Amino acid sequence: MMSHVFPTYARWNIAPDYGKGSWLTATDGTTYLDFTSGIGVTGLGHRHPKVEAAIIKQLQKYYHTSNLFQQPNQEALAEQLSNVTGLGAAFFANSGAEANEAAIKLAKKATGKSKVITCNGSFHGRTYATMGATGQEKVRIGYGPMLSSFAYVDFNNSEQLQDAVDDQTAAIMVEIIQGEGGINLITEAFVATINEVAKKTGALIIIDEIQTGVGRTGKPFAYQHFDIQPDIVTVAKGLGNGLPIGAMLGKQELIQYFGPGSHGSTFGGNPVSTAAALAVVEEVFEEAFLQEVTTKGEFLKKQLIEKLKDQVTVKDVRAVGLMVGIDLVDKVKAASIIAELQNQALLVLPAGQNVIRLLPPLNVTEEEITIAVDKLTAIIKQQVETAK
Ligand SMILES: *Cc1c(COP(=O)(O)O)cnc(C)c1O
Repeated sequence: MMSHVFPTYARWNIAPDYGKGSWLTATDGTTYLDFTSGIGVTGLGHRHPKVEAAIIKQLQKYYHTSNLFQQPNQEALAEQLSNVTGLGAAFFANSGAEANEAAIKLAKKATGKSKVITCNGSFHGRTYATMGATGQEKVRIGYGPMLSSFAYVDFNNSEQLQDAVDDQTAAIMVEIIQGEGGINLITEAFVATINEVAKKTGALIIIDEIQTGVGRTGKPFAYQHFDIQPDIVTVAKGLGNGLPIGAMLGKQELIQYFGPGSHGSTFGGNPVSTAAALAVVEEVFEEAFLQEVTTKGEFLKKQLIEKLKDQVTVKDVRAVGLMVGIDLVDKVKAASIIAELQNQALLVLPAGQNVIRLLPPLNVTEEEITIAVDKLTAIIKQQVETAK
């Protein structure tokens, strides 16, 4: 059938019909175990009852009034996000890229400086500013010239960062785990350098938690695994369990730079999206829930390492909480394994050069993890011949 949608996405040949929890059923009747969570979005699984109830409750009051009115859901959500981060205020947007746009604007305005340092291999979005911030050439092809604000350093390269930051640097913008880039983990040493150069030059620290945030790594936010206090944190994917929402959180002393008229969005902080997000954070920010994420993440990682440790096709297994990457040797193609897993009714994601990325729902069960591990390891073991 002729599609009238721009073909910007290479679509999978699966037609989802309905979802429940970790499972997605297609129109042909196949039920898939969904370890994509809509690319790290439906962290509480499909159709979570509390999220659904919150959405319906808000729908029956009103679903838009505009930001001319104070929004009670925004106030409550901002307070929750502030409580877990210590950051004083939130600005609400509709997506990750928009949250990062707000962060870049605020950092420039607050410091009066223009340069933003980001990392090679990063992903920060596809708007004009954020594709410039993104340290991946392929995102920018054909769209030049980029904004001149951005300079790039290799991820985890402290020396390059020290050299790049100067008195014109407004901010250092970084992911704690590069998600799209291939589940690359930040090092303690790099975190220490970020702290040090930020302190020395007054550059702000922006942590992009769009993929890592809202419980994905077993903490409310991934930076909380480290000794770092960001000035700005951006959140999106997992925040609304599927309803579109982004948020930029900033320190108390930054509030003065985002006064009336300084920034805005018609839909930003929509009452239905924020109702969903409130239900999400109420669930996810519970200590017991986060502990479960950690436990299940360790269970998943341990099983993968045990079953794949002798595989010549596997370079590395990297994981924090329920954010997992299986890094494969070049000769086997992640894409073909992902396609084969679809035939076996397991949905997983690609990332980076040749990485299989797992982002199961945060409330996945150990039984579901075991099903996924068995399918994954069986298919990966079949690749040995190709790699020889
Ligand atoms: C997905 C993602 C973005 C962009 O979010 P959109 O909602 O697609 O604009 C930005 N940063 C990171 C780390 C992401 O994973």
